[in-house]
Amino acid sequence: MSGAIHKGSEHTRDLDLSCDVVVVGSGAGGAVVATELALAGQHVIVLEEGPHLTAAEHGALRASESVRHVWRDAAMTIAWPLGDTPPINVTAGRVVGGSSTMTGGVCFRVPERVHDVWLRERGLPEALGRKAMDACYDAVEKAMHVEEVPVSARSRGAALFGEGMARTGHAIHPMLRNTDGCKGEGRCNFGCPHTAKKSVDQSYLPRAVEAGAEIYADSLIERILFDGDRAVGVEGWVLDNPRAKQRLRLRVRARRVVLAAGGMHSPMVLARSGVGKASGHLGKHMTLHPGFRMIARFDEPIFGWKGALQPAFSDDFHADRITLTGLFIPHGVMAATMPGAGKHHVERARNLRHLAMFGGMLHDEGGGRIWRGPGREPILTYRMAREDRAAIPVLMRKMAETFFAAGARECYLPILGLEPVDADGLKKLDLTRVKSNQIECSSQHPLGSCRMSATKETGVVDPYGKVWGTRELYVADGSVVPTSLGVNPQVGIMAMATHIAWGMREAALV
Ligand SMILES: Cc1cc2nc3c(=O)[nH]c(=O)nc-3n(C[C@H](O)[C@H](O)[C@H](O)COP(=O)(O)OP(=O)(O)OC[C@H]3O[C@@H](n4cnc5c(N)ncnc54)[C@H](O)[C@@H]3O)c2cc1C
Ligand code: SF4
Repeated sequence: MSGAIHKGSEHTRDLDLSCDVVVVGSGAGGAVVATELALAGQHVIVLEEGPHLTAAEHGALRASESVRHVWRDAAMTIAWPLGDTPPINVTAGRVVGGSSTMTGGVCFRVPERVHDVWLRERGLPEALGRKAMDACYDAVEKAMHVEEVPVSARSRGAALFGEGMARTGHAIHPMLRNTDGCKGEGRCNFGCPHTAKKSVDQSYLPRAVEAGAEIYADSLIERILFDGDRAVGVEGWVLDNPRAKQRLRLRVRARRVVLAAGGMHSPMVLARSGVGKASGHLGKHMTLHPGFRMIARFDEPIFGWKGALQPAFSDDFHADRITLTGLFIPHGVMAATMPGAGKHHVERARNLRHLAMFGGMLHDEGGGRIWRGPGREPILTYRMAREDRAAIPVLMRKMAETFFAAGARECYLPILGLEPVDADGLKKLDLTRVKSNQIECSSQHPLGSCRMSATKETGVVDPYGKVWGTRELYVADGSVVPTSLGVNPQVGIMAMATHIAWGMREAALV
């Protein structure tokens, strides 16, 4: 029997529901667990705080409207810097499909070297090794239609960056993306109007619904309900979105609870429910993959927005903790973020068609922490490790030199207040002296705040996603990732969620 997606506005009285498995959060992790368990014949309810938008509805929004309606906290969340750290803007989705709906479609398996760290240094079992997880990766990549971006779909900006890399003895490689029929419009972060991006709302959730799952949008969960140490359900509110006003009470009784509210919110729900604190690790060790964009102006017109959003990458600098990936943002957003004011700003915005962009991110050591604040959103702090901080000037210089090698006239470094520099200007700049609070930095990957561990003393969930010290309570999202990955995380998160779902399918209720 087929399930359905319910909007909050459909309900006229408080909801009291029951099911086999309740999943909190419908993003990359939650959608996978819900689908795998629904396909296994279990009655699944998914509760999502954000609204439900069809691809056509999301794709029709202007970027600024998408930011207000779909991006959490209207993209205003900051990880407050501690010590020598740049402030970091952290973004996530708040919608059916979660942050998966906002990705550039980049798909990486977790590198083998990272799986090896999990086994050798973190003592996690073989089941979390790269070989053992191949079946999980295969299942995810098939469900999301992961394919290679052809060289012909590269934007001119990415192609020029590739030329610069070749001239400096390096290479870029074709990206794998979860797309089918991509038209190269470059607005993936603000919803794909062509349903070409196979985010979980287009790939997993329809299969879950077909298998009987019920998805409740506009449903905010505050806490988990317990009978002793056994999770027996959740409670919260039906919201009146987009105002997010609490409208009706919501309670779901379940034989199993899966928390998949993402790296920022899963630790918050656990903390509000009074679990996970005993380990001393809840909300700690958050990694962010701090990211930086490099913009370059060429004489020739580039039309950087034409082409697949993130068509190529390079891991040539992974020894320096750096991964480089193609990038662009819609021209309206780009124009608004051009440096300078008044006449200078207008002049630069006019040059938009001549601008190319590429992104770089750090394989960070962590140092992030989630704190409960006075409102609904957490407070984030982040102390950047010394070696990560030292890698920032290296990253900026390498990226700018690459664009200059490809013939760029000037580069816009991600440094607040710095005018664009030409190749000679770059040589004269001592990037090691740039103050942290001048550096523009962003993150789309809050991970590890309920980390998976081999023992209850060293993390929040066990190697199968179960919260240590509880029964029938699981976490299956980016928060359980044991270490920084150094690559975009959606496939890794979804493979781990598959591993957790398959484990739940096999495990008897206790
Ligand atoms: C702009 C952007 C671009 C990205 N691009 C890429 C990319 O190209 N490739 C890649 O690999 N990764 C990318 N990512 C990262 C990737 O999308 C995330 O790592 C991944 O989706 C995280 O999965 P998750 O399940 O942990 O959380 P999410 O997908 O964020 O899902 C969590 C869901 O839980 C809901 N929720 C939270 N709290 C509650 C509550 N209390 N009650 C009910 N629901 C709740 C949220 O609203 C959200 O929908 C990108 C992220 C962003 C923001
Ligand atoms: S670039 Fe492709 S995946 Fe992205 S929005 Fe356009 S059609 Fe969709």
